[in-house]
Order: sequence, then C-alpha cells, then structure tokens
Amino acid sequence: MPEKVDTREFRPLKVAIIGGGIGGMSAAVALRRAGHICSVYERRDFDVEVGASLSCAANGNRWLHEWGVDVQAGRPVDLQHLLMRDWHTGEVRNDYDLSGYAKEWGTPYYMFHRRDQLQITHDAAVAKEGEGTPVQVVTDHIATHVDHEAGVVTFENGEKVKADLVLGADGIRSKVREAIGIVAEKKSAPQTCYRVNVSKEKVEALGLDWAADPAIQFWGGYPKNNLSQYYKVVMSPMAGYSLISFYLFMPTEMTNHHEEGFVFAEADLRDVLAGQYSELDPRCVALIKESVERKPWRLYIHQPYKYIVKGRAALVGDSAHPMMPHQSQGACQAVEDAAALGLVFSKKYGGRFTSDVEAGLRMYEKIRHPRATRVQEASKRALENLNERIGFTSLSAPEAALAAKSDKLTVDEMNNYDMHKHVDDEVAKLAQAS
Ligand SMILES: Cc1cc2nc3c(=O)[nH]c(=O)nc-3n(C[C@H](O)[C@H](O)[C@H](O)COP(=O)(O)OP(=O)(O)OC[C@H]3O[C@@H](n4cnc5c(N)ncnc54)[C@H](O)[C@@H]3O)c2cc1C
Repeated sequence: MPEKVDTREFRPLKVAIIGGGIGGMSAAVALRRAGHICSVYERRDFDVEVGASLSCAANGNRWLHEWGVDVQAGRPVDLQHLLMRDWHTGEVRNDYDLSGYAKEWGTPYYMFHRRDQLQITHDAAVAKEGEGTPVQVVTDHIATHVDHEAGVVTFENGEKVKADLVLGADGIRSKVREAIGIVAEKKSAPQTCYRVNVSKEKVEALGLDWAADPAIQFWGGYPKNNLSQYYKVVMSPMAGYSLISFYLFMPTEMTNHHEEGFVFAEADLRDVLAGQYSELDPRCVALIKESVERKPWRLYIHQPYKYIVKGRAALVGDSAHPMMPHQSQGACQAVEDAAALGLVFSKKYGGRFTSDVEAGLRMYEKIRHPRATRVQEASKRALENLNERIGFTSLSAPEAALAAKSDKLTVDEMNNYDMHKHVDDEVAKLAQAS
C-alpha cells in the first residue's frame, strides 16, 4: 500500500515537567532542542541533597553530547578499570580493563557526582545560548494531581497549569503515576544500602591513594562461606576526584530504616558498619570511618508497570521504571527516556505527533517500555547473581551464545542500540499502516 503523505505541520508544544531530577532535566533539554516550550516544576530547591556517584555509561553519555551539554563542567571521572575484590582481604579477584571503552563505544564511561550531572543538564536547559527556547524552572511546587485528559497539573499551593504534554519525572514515589491509575506493586528488597562520601584529603592522609584511581571497585557481592552476597561495597571517585563515593550494601534485616528511596537523615557510623562489616578489608573500613554525608537508601523491588502513558501524560525515569541499582542504569535509562521524547516529538516527523500528542506518547511507550523493562528485570536478577551484571567489554562468540540463551543483558545490547533508527523504523511502520 503506498504511504499516505502526512501534511500536518510541526507545532511547538507547551510541556509541563513534574520533577527536576536527572530524568526531568534531561527531558527538558531534549524537548527544548526539539523546538518545544518547557517548564520544570520541582517540589523543593536544588540545595538539599549531597548525593553520591552516578554511572553514566555510553548509552546515556552519548545523549548528553548530542544535546550539547557541557559534560566536562560536571567534573566526570573517566573510568579505566572495574575491580572485584575479596570482602575480607581486598585481594583483586577480577580486573576489567575499561581503557578501550571510549574507542569501542564512542564515548567514555563516566562517573559523576549526582549533583554535578543534575547541574550540567539544568544549565543546558536554562541557558540563553544554544538551540531552542530556554526552559523555565519553578521550584517549591509540589504537584498533587494531574488531569491526564485535559493536561492540567494542580499544585499543593493551589496553582494550576495547563499543558499539551505533562511529564511525570517525579521519581520513585510519583504522584503522576498515581494520577494515571497505576498502582505500584512493590516489595521490600532483601538488601539495603547506605551512601557515604570520603574527601580526597582523608584518603591521602591515610596513604590509601589507590582509592582515588579512576575505577569502580567492588568488595563482596557474591556468597563466600557464611558471608551473604547482600554484603557489597561499591567505591569510586567522583566530582573531579575530590570525593570518593561509597555504596554500602547489606542484608535488609541489618537496618532500622524503612522508608523507600533517598532519605536525608544522617546515619550513625555504627549502623553503617553493622554486621559483617566488622570483617571487611580493614583498609576499606578505615576509609568508611572517615566518611561524611552518611545517608540511608532503602531499596524496594518494583514490578514493571503495564503502561507508562495515558492521555497527555507520560512517565519518565524512576517514576516509569524504578529499578535496583545493580546494573548502574537508573540515570542512563532516564536519559534514554528523555532522548526518545525528543526524537518522537521532533520536526523530522512534521506534525504527525505534535498535532496528536496521544499518538506521540503511544510511540514513546513503544520505544521505551520494552527496553527499560528489560533493564529493570536484569537489575533485579543481578541482586541475586552478580554474573547477571552487564559485562564491560564486547562479548566473545561463546559468551554471546551463552548470553543469548540465558537472556543476560549485555554491554553490546546497551551500547550498540540505535534509537534514531528504532524511532524511524517504528514511525515508518505506522505510516504504512495508516
Ligand atoms: C535526592 C536524591 C538522591 C539520589 N542519590 C542517588 C545516588 O546517590 N545514587 C544513585 O544511583 N541514584 C541516586 N538517585 C537516583 C537517581 O538520580 C535516579 O535513579 C535517576 O537519576 C533517575 O532520575 P529521576 O529524575 O527519574 O528521579 P529522581 O532523581 O528521583 O528525581 C525526581 C525529582 O522529582 C521531584 N519530585 C518528586 N515528587 C514531586 C512532586 N510531587 N512535585 C514536584 N516535584 C517532585 C523530586 O524532588 C526529585 O527532584 C537520587 C535521587 C534523589 C532524588
């Protein structure tokens, strides 16, 4: 059947983005570049949180570059190694060389301080320079309700905003998700976490300079004698090497913190070094004792949602696919969501989606839901089995065959993915069918 020519013209959309985290800010940049008028509504200001490290693998990093974000201003650490260490002795059991990563995948594997990644996307969103209309960022606005048919957002202070497109980038306890009728099915994870940071000066004073190597270093994470795999330390430098970030995982029964997500209360060092942390490599313990900004991060396992769009509203990032941290893909998947929105609502497809926002959101869901769900499921599997974690180099032929059989998520799958082509192909199929 010959393709019918779509004569509708592109029109800029008014976009209301609820939540100014990495998902919301990335969506603002992507949609600004695509020619839309965006406002971000954040429930607080941006100075509350100290945060810890965020991985930005090539599948996320490439979009920051494509959007012209000043990535270097975010003081990224260009990771060169991934070391797996023994819990008790710190002896290196595996060393994955990442020095060829940028050459292989087109961009480096960066480690950011969360606050820095947020800052650079925020700056790109609001900058006077650069393509598109500068984004309006409104703080101290808590969204309480969204009418997804009318595109109306209501805030706790009584204000209302009407938009052509409403994005729920409001994180793990999303109000927008609730408003589009999704009931989150979740259960407590058997593993919980503390995030702590150590200054470079403390590292140097202890003479443990290797802690600031451009590497992610893991201790534990696999069962050993009477040590459960839920004991795991993940350490990496961030913020231009000025801080070393630690994620300290342990079995959930070791903690008194129950509220899901990121909590701002400072945790006691005794809580952080509970249970079999007494047996951890003493050099690592010495570093943790010097830590500041010790915060609990309570983890829950979420079932994937059946849908992530309804009417004029769509979910982005953690609100759409909250995942365990074990593939280090939470932020990258939020960035990919943003990229998909920017492509679907781009001038390339004329007015096909800007004059039919609901059709555009169905396309967004088609592009994002299967891939994000796959990463979400793989993150859950990696909680129980470290071998399920994405590898860091291309797979050899036998490994690839094994991965295909076991459904393991691979680095090839993550980094070879061509979203431009994916969207083009799906839009072409739609045009054929109409
Ligand atoms: C404070 C904080 C600290 C984090 N620290 C880490 C970390 O150390 N390591 C890590 O791997 N990941 C961390 N994350 C999570 C990581 O940033 C996300 O998994 C990922 O970047 C996806 O981001 P997101 O934008 O979807 O969600 P989030 O980063 O959770 O952003 C959601 C935003 O929406 C805002 N919001 C929520 N509800 C409303 C509402 N009703 N109205 C208006 N605004 C609302 C929140 O204040 C927040 O700014 C953190 C997230 C937060 C919020």
